[in-house]
Order: sequence, then structure tokens, then C-alpha cells
Amino acid sequence: MSKYCMMVRDLIDYYGIEGLEGETLAWVKGHISACDECKNYIPDEKAKKLMTEVDVLSEKDKKLIKKVRLVFYLGCSFVGVFLLWISLWSILWSK
Ligand SMILES: [Zn+2]
Repeated sequence: MSKYCMMVRDLIDYYGIEGLEGETLAWVKGHISACDECKNYIPDEKAKKLMTEVDVLSEKDKKLIKKVRLVFYLGCSFVGVFLLWISLWSILWSK
């Protein structure tokens, strides 16, 4: 058990899982994902699930957002090329 384990357990004892927020929550989560001893220290099953699942979800969300953004940009550039092509044709036909 490292000094970080002591800090994590102190934080959990003092604030509870729901009381943690921001950087503290991120840090505790990061430690718990790497430390089974502290994972097992969380008494509430629901809180344990919350601590271990949120990171996986957000990682999935990040990938999804990247995909959606890529499709969006591809769609935009396709529409841009299409409009350019249409305007070129209309210029050619108007002459
Ligand atoms: Zn630990």
C-alpha cells in the first residue's frame, strides 16, 4: 500500500464517492483504475461501478465524438466540392 492509497482512502472516508469532484475525482478514479486494493476498499457496490465504468464510457464517447466529427467534416467538404462543381457547370453553360 503506497502513500497514494492512504490519500485515496482518506478522501473516500471523508467526502464519500459522491462528494468528490473535478480534479480530485479524476485523480481518485485514475488511482482506483490502477489499484485493486483501493477498488476493493470502496464499500458501496454502486459507487464502485460508478468509479470503474465512467472512464470506460467517456473513452468510448471520445472515440464516438471523433468519428461523428470526421463524418461531419467529410460531409461538409463533399457538399463544398459539389457546390463548386455545380457553379463551375452553370458558369460553363451560361456562356
Ligand atoms: Zn491504492
